[in-house]
Amino acid sequence: SDLINQIAAGEVIERPSSVVKELVENSLDAGATRVEVDIELGGARLIRVRDDGDGIAADDLPLAVASHATSKIGSFDDLEHVASMGFRGEALASMSSVARFAMTSRLRGQDNAFRIEVDSGRMQAARPAQHPQGTSVEVRDLFYNVPARRKFLRAERTEFAHIDDLLKSLALARSKVEFRLSHNGKSVRVWKAARDDQSMLMRVAEVLGDDFPQQSLRIDHATAGMRLSGWVGLPTASRPQADSQYFYVNGRLVRDRVVAHAVRQAYADVLFHGRHPVFVLYLDLDPVGVDVNVHPAKSEVRFREQRLVHDFLFRTLHEALAETRA
Ligand code: ADP
Ligand code: MG
Repeated sequence: SDLINQIAAGEVIERPSSVVKELVENSLDAGATRVEVDIELGGARLIRVRDDGDGIAADDLPLAVASHATSKIGSFDDLEHVASMGFRGEALASMSSVARFAMTSRLRGQDNAFRIEVDSGRMQAARPAQHPQGTSVEVRDLFYNVPARRKFLRAERTEFAHIDDLLKSLALARSKVEFRLSHNGKSVRVWKAARDDQSMLMRVAEVLGDDFPQQSLRIDHATAGMRLSGWVGLPTASRPQADSQYFYVNGRLVRDRVVAHAVRQAYADVLFHGRHPVFVLYLDLDPVGVDVNVHPAKSEVRFREQRLVHDFLFRTLHEALAETRA
């Protein structure tokens, strides 16, 4: 079962940034208003995520890390399903099978915190620990027991850049949450929680660069059960902009060809000096109209009514951009 856990880990845990993604998403699921990420050696030595969320009861700590699906794998078909869909409820189990793992938590309303550790596949019993309300997860020496994967880790700087990029995309999706990121003991990012539209724009400026707000157009348009909001970069000849494109569907970052096509078409009339437009856009629609479970680890979606979504995006953006040229 340890082997199966490690195979599963290969699906979900590709590199340090995949660990950070799963941990921060857990923190956000737990209602955190503050998430702190500490990294050492690009994540190869340490990944630690602390939050002030709801926490976990001592009795539930071992269950959170235990594998649910692997005990249910009975046939080749099951394994194939796992390989194509990945696990849900398996992220902690997977990472604890390929790293030295510890989780400390204090449940909301409790006086005491508890900690469990998993090393070499063995889980220690939960014991009392010091921790404010919320949860800390430490993942040390990622892939220490899977040499083929450890070897595939890239340079410290590269792995850290992946983590930084990931945190940017999460920070843009969740502007009401404070994020902090440090590398080798040095603070790299501090993004304070946004309280309103204005401070949300500040978050966008912090992440995409101070020039972005002046060079961008506010979008906010709703119709037929869909809402598109956010900011699109305007073409400017003078100042270079970062090539950053963020598109969220119901709060989840996606790369989608229907979306990409609509945006490209909307910008087609506007001169862009060979640059990709910068944008951060949020599409919100009835969850029934979109399937986000195409692949849990990838950022794909499938719209029920592709044509409708495409035309809504194209029209909204095209009208907004056309006005700036009039
Ligand atoms: P999933 O998130 O898909 O349920 P995970 O393996 O990521 O699977 O987490 C297992 C469980 O552990 C979660 O369902 C949640 O109950 C608990 N958990 C994990 N991280 C946290 C956290 N930061 N705060 C509170 N509970 C957590
Ligand atoms: Mg999770």
